[in-house]
Amino acid sequence: MIPRDTIDSIFTAARIEEVVGDFVNLKKRGVNYLGLCPFHHEKTPSFTVSPAKGIYKCFGCGKGGNAVNFVMDHEQMDYVNALKYLARKYNIEIQEEERTEQQKELETERESLMIVSAFAQRFYTSQLFTEQGSAIGLSYLEERGFTRETIEKFQLGYAPENYKALLQTALKDGYSLKFLLLSGLVRSSAAQGDDGKEAAEPTAEQCSDRFAGRVMFPIHNVSGRVIAFGGRTLRKDKNVAKYVNSPETPIYHKSNVFYGLHLARKAIVAEDSCFLVEGYADVISMHQSGVENTVASSGTSLTIEQVRLIRRYTPNLTILYDGDSAGIKAAERGFNIALKEGMNVKIVTLPPEDDPDTFARKHSTAELKEYITTKAADFIVFKTRELAHAATNDPIKKAELIKEIITTIAAIPERTKRGVYVKECSRIMNMEELILWGELDLARRKMFDEPIPAAALPKAAPAQPAVSYSLLSSVPQEMEILRVLIKYANETGEFINEGETGEEQAKYQMGIADYIIESITGDYFGFEDDTCKRIFDECCEMHKKGTPVSEDYFLKHPDAAISKLAVGLIVDGHFISDWSRKSIGIKSERDDLGKTAMKAIYGFKSRKIEVMIKELDEYIRNPINEAELTERMTRKQKLNKAKSMLKNKLTRVI
Ligand SMILES: [Zn+2]
Repeated sequence: MIPRDTIDSIFTAARIEEVVGDFVNLKKRGVNYLGLCPFHHEKTPSFTVSPAKGIYKCFGCGKGGNAVNFVMDHEQMDYVNALKYLARKYNIEIQEEERTEQQKELETERESLMIVSAFAQRFYTSQLFTEQGSAIGLSYLEERGFTRETIEKFQLGYAPENYKALLQTALKDGYSLKFLLLSGLVRSSAAQGDDGKEAAEPTAEQCSDRFAGRVMFPIHNVSGRVIAFGGRTLRKDKNVAKYVNSPETPIYHKSNVFYGLHLARKAIVAEDSCFLVEGYADVISMHQSGVENTVASSGTSLTIEQVRLIRRYTPNLTILYDGDSAGIKAAERGFNIALKEGMNVKIVTLPPEDDPDTFARKHSTAELKEYITTKAADFIVFKTRELAHAATNDPIKKAELIKEIITTIAAIPERTKRGVYVKECSRIMNMEELILWGELDLARRKMFDEPIPAAALPKAAPAQPAVSYSLLSSVPQEMEILRVLIKYANETGEFINEGETGEEQAKYQMGIADYIIESITGDYFGFEDDTCKRIFDECCEMHKKGTPVSEDYFLKHPDAAISKLAVGLIVDGHFISDWSRKSIGIKSERDDLGKTAMKAIYGFKSRKIEVMIKELDEYIRNPINEAELTERMTRKQKLNKAKSMLKNKLTRVI
């Protein structure tokens, strides 16, 4: 844990133009700096750095953030390591908070496990070149077409037939039995005590190697250190497991490790896409064929931790599967997780006789690249087609498949994206969009317990669940509210009394933060975008405690999603005002802050009402029965009235 004070001094010391300047050639332009964006390919510079605000923003690809965000994105570091990087650059000593004895012990244990794993890797690799090893192990790898360079790069090896080979060498070289056992490289045949700990430590005689007579694939962590192994048998015997893997250890949790990620990382960022295959050999063949942005989830179906790990490098995930649909079915849960995390998921189906390994070996790099780019199909569209085809004339089957597809779509966090898929699926399946929307609504409520929007609901709950969907989004209005809030929170504006039309307009003074927070929390309208909501909630919390809400606080927020959104919120106005000071819009905004805040609030509420009216319209077009229809017509009337009232107020403000 880095103490808050140290984080603050890092932020204060880190000059954005210097941090970025280490990687980008920056030219001074007025008060800002300009350069070629390191995150996308461009010929004319649109990457702007503002020393005054301590932020950067690319007007080409939209990337932006503070100094820490830049290091995180550019150097693919996590938050803590990015802070450490900057601390080193600016000679700031990090006094990490006191670690407990237990923490220290844990660290030594992890380090010892890494050391013993690295030793085992060197041992297995050296065994490839013994008489037995080269006859069995090396010849197998060469048969698969792996070059010496590839074998070296992936640190492949061979575990000899002798079940004491590693154990004896390790002990002779001074490695402790304790860590050999803990790493799972060695197993004990000694009887376990009832409570494990009480049992006497097994002796070396009671132990043997886990891996014997197998080709060894070391598994690395992101920084390239060996943390586990997978071993493939070369026997044809059906009773021998084809693959044996290391057990879970303090350094190896298979649910958050990708095979090959340490070698794929750079390519994933450069290509802004990641290929996912099933096996170790698939990864190696793809890399050898020049498609280096490839990883495998080693035996497990995708987990949420793995998805988040990839998400740090790219939002684009393409899955390469062999033609049989069993593999796809098994991986489905993983796809849904990836969609839920907001990733774009594509799928490439290989010819039925191939897997990624055989396919990569049969084709040239150019052919392989061509195939995977042209055949990549959007996963949801792919699945819809597949299922629609399977259930052509069977209504019950069709109903089931709709549920299945809808469940998949429901996992997608962005509403607009869900809308696109609903359209596409309704087209492929030749089905009313409205029906799909209804199903989607149910599925989402089941999934997230999404509440029915409280506003505008009559007191008596309707028999049919009200729809909470819309193709309209209120996110732009949400961002505008936050922009005004974090920029002007501590200032005061002049407001017009919100009386009925015709009444005399009373004017009054009020704090901008007071006005916005009261207006939003006083109504039932919620934020649609999760990051917007979190920023707003934090503002409310700070306001309640009397802490001033500031741009700076959000620009330096430890949550990268928040700091980046904050940059987006303030940056456009900031850079524009630098570039064209003539701009009347921006000048007059500060002149009448009350007006600015009221416009933001009315705009948001109008949009929310518009969304509700649109939802009702869809019901009214397809009424379920007479009573419902009447009830909804009445509700629509009320909403229309509210809408025109807001419009009036807005006109009065402007
Ligand atoms: Zn860019």
